[in-house]
Amino acid sequence: MAPPHTVISVVGSLNVDLVTRTSRVPAAGETLTSESFDIGFGGKGANQAVACARLSRTHSQAIEGRPADVEVRMVGAVGEDQFADDFLKSLQGDGLNISNIQRLPNQKTGVAVIIVESQTGENRILFSPGANYAVPADNLLQDDTDVALFQLELPTDVVLRNMKEARDRGIDTILNPAPAFTLPDDAYQGLNHLIMNETEATILSGISQSNSWDEIASIFVQKGVENVIITLGAEGVYYQSAYRQVQSDTAKLISAKKVEVVDTTAAGDTFVGGYAVAVARSKAASKRDAFDIDAAIDFANRAASKAVQKKGAQSAIPWLDEVPGI
Ligand code: ATP
Repeated sequence: MAPPHTVISVVGSLNVDLVTRTSRVPAAGETLTSESFDIGFGGKGANQAVACARLSRTHSQAIEGRPADVEVRMVGAVGEDQFADDFLKSLQGDGLNISNIQRLPNQKTGVAVIIVESQTGENRILFSPGANYAVPADNLLQDDTDVALFQLELPTDVVLRNMKEARDRGIDTILNPAPAFTLPDDAYQGLNHLIMNETEATILSGISQSNSWDEIASIFVQKGVENVIITLGAEGVYYQSAYRQVQSDTAKLISAKKVEVVDTTAAGDTFVGGYAVAVARSKAASKRDAFDIDAAIDFANRAASKAVQKKGAQSAIPWLDEVPGI
């Protein structure tokens, strides 16, 4: 019998990172030889889509092209250039469905030019959004989508319109509001899952961190969010849920895994991907009550704890076989 099939659509950004390391930043008019140069694929959308794909299949499943019970679709736009060819190939290698990525004529793929000063570790970044800001606004989600995952790296009106459409169609909707900026109240109404880090929670709630996470999360529950999840780095995760009826169960702090940290890049994106996979798996069980937020956070926590033990962004995101047990 074929495994139950659920679809996660990740609506978001695709960027190519051009990373140069230098002992010092060149002055105006000066040319320096860099220490190294690397090309990486990123954008919060693509990173979270990769996390969803890897955390719902084993590495060998992806290499052999065997289907998994969760199909992950990246929804977004790239340009007509060589970067796009390489990017799409890389996403396919991770087991992603790329048929909803539009190649826009006369556009360039989004690029971030990153200069890393090796002495100080400081980054200087110039971001050219290219095709990300030209993505068509409407009907981005196909009918069979079960879970839709959004960030805020596409134009805000595109995100808000498609989030509303998703909720109206009964699709489980997850928002990771990064980069954070104030959103209209109706963005939260009926939202199933809001996952943010401490900085984003502080900016979006408009109240300082000296207030308790409980108080900050309550603001979003009152605005109509079902599950509010605040990731706290090495401290773990705080969540508050409006969905459960039992009062004592509606808010909790869950510790992070104790691990040797190498590089925390991609921890947040891995967490969000793991959580989205857990939501999709609960949909496959075809009963809404099957969603167990503690189990979802535990899986996401374990996945993110693997990511912090490796260097790099997408390269640090683990496969399902590295995070067993969901
Ligand atoms: P980043 O921007 O670095 O990707 P973020 O700021 O979006 O991350 P964090 O809250 O720092 O998100 O981390 C997300 C999750 O990653 C945490 O909730 C936890 O599960 C895991 N994590 C982060 N840092 C650590 C750590 N030092 N040890 C164990 N787990 C960690």
